[in-house]
Amino acid sequence: MLPTRGYATKGPASSLGPFNFERREPGPHDLLIEILYCGVCHSDIHQARDEWGGSLFPMVPGHEIVGRVTRAGSAVQRFKAGDLAGVGCFVDSCRVCESCKAGLEQYCEEHLVLTYNGTERDKKTPTYGGYASQIVVDENYTLRISPSLPLANVAPLLCAGITTYSPLRRYKVGRGQRVAVVGLGGLGHMAIKFAASMGAEVTVLSTSKSKEGDARRLGAHEFVVIKDPKNLDALANRFDFILDAVSADHDLNAYLNLLRRDGVLALVGAPAKPMEVQAFSLLLKRRTLVGSLIGGLGETQEMLDYCTEKNIASDVEVIPIQQVEAAYERTIKGDVRYRFVIDMKTL
Ligand code: NAP
Ligand code: ZN
Ligand code: ZN
Repeated sequence: MLPTRGYATKGPASSLGPFNFERREPGPHDLLIEILYCGVCHSDIHQARDEWGGSLFPMVPGHEIVGRVTRAGSAVQRFKAGDLAGVGCFVDSCRVCESCKAGLEQYCEEHLVLTYNGTERDKKTPTYGGYASQIVVDENYTLRISPSLPLANVAPLLCAGITTYSPLRRYKVGRGQRVAVVGLGGLGHMAIKFAASMGAEVTVLSTSKSKEGDARRLGAHEFVVIKDPKNLDALANRFDFILDAVSADHDLNAYLNLLRRDGVLALVGAPAKPMEVQAFSLLLKRRTLVGSLIGGLGETQEMLDYCTEKNIASDVEVIPIQQVEAAYERTIKGDVRYRFVIDMKTL
């Protein structure tokens, strides 16, 4: 076993602190990766504070991981020691179900092995995430990272990037379409960059007036401050596609009503409380409400390659790990420009 340093929380009311644990010895298909940067996703907060229920403790959060391969197992083909590598929200899956075979591993019907707050395929051994010095991952669940973009800015692509890229691609967002992004945080800022790069006209709907300049710099064409979501009448029936990336409780109907006929609202934000949907918000214009969970391995690699080609990465605030609790508090307040990323040298 490999002694590993990390940061963990012991329960929903505890704060994160140093934690020593062990990673498995790398097997023939495994990579040992020295973690260089790990992004702070709002899902880390939801899970560390057990807002979704069922959290496993102690928990080492972190699923936006970039690092360098320090050892490659004897059967590894795609990586060698010294290569950059990325790890996202899951590190294994059953590999044989319909979803796995379709390259949609995130929807594995048997058992998705989450990077943390999950269990290995034995459904017993807990997994620990990226707020740590190193990780051991099967090469098939590891992404290739180009050295051409700054690594700290690449880390958030492994979750915030793929979670926004995937629904934009699935619903063929592009030129001639009006797209709204709700919630300008880690996911939201990537959604703006991607939707704009795909040629759509992008409007940001935000509760934070102070983010307007940033939204335009990120590629948005319009910015609307939401004071009262009931007061969005001027935008009714306007958008072809809305990406909802809000982390807190909010009124979905207010946003559904902004879709034109046959428009799609893709929910990627994951507030804990159930949400109410008015039948007429969907019926009147044959609107679609869908959810979307991260993305499969193939699509994640496609997104990373797209980012390399288009020179797209996240806007980040790099922090030492000792500031992670403060970063959580600022994230909850919507005060992050636009992703905190932990420099793992500071561990
Ligand atoms: P984040 O950086 O905290 O951004 C969330 C944004 O939501 C905030 O910046 C804020 O934007 C807006 N917001 C926050 N509180 C609000 C409130 N009370 N009312 C209205 N708007 C509010 O979070 P994130 O990391 O982007 O994650 C967003 C959500 O997506 C989280 O729930 C996370 O768990 C979920 N998630 C889902 C997936 C998936 O696969 N589906 C993947 C990753 C994350 P403004 O200041 O612009 O209003
Ligand atoms: Zn995430
Ligand atoms: Zn499967």
